[in-house]
Amino acid sequence: MGRLIFFAIIALLAYWILRRVAMSKKAPPEKHYTSVNDAADTVRCSVCGVYMPREEALMSKGAFYCESHRPDRHS
Ligand SMILES: [Zn+2]
Repeated sequence: MGRLIFFAIIALLAYWILRRVAMSKKAPPEKHYTSVNDAADTVRCSVCGVYMPREEALMSKGAFYCESHRPDRHS
């Protein structure tokens, strides 16, 4: 009977350790551009510095641009 309790404790410990390892590995840090540390989906135009939603921004060579500063339109 004592052996059964021993193994039960070992199993509980193993479960507890595994859970802790799984918890610490959970939620890996999301890949973010170094210049973007504000709201998750807000990016900054590298020319005028205006903030805009990521889906409205244009990205070129790792930098974001607003609609009026898109690099492929020189006007
Ligand atoms: Zn701009």
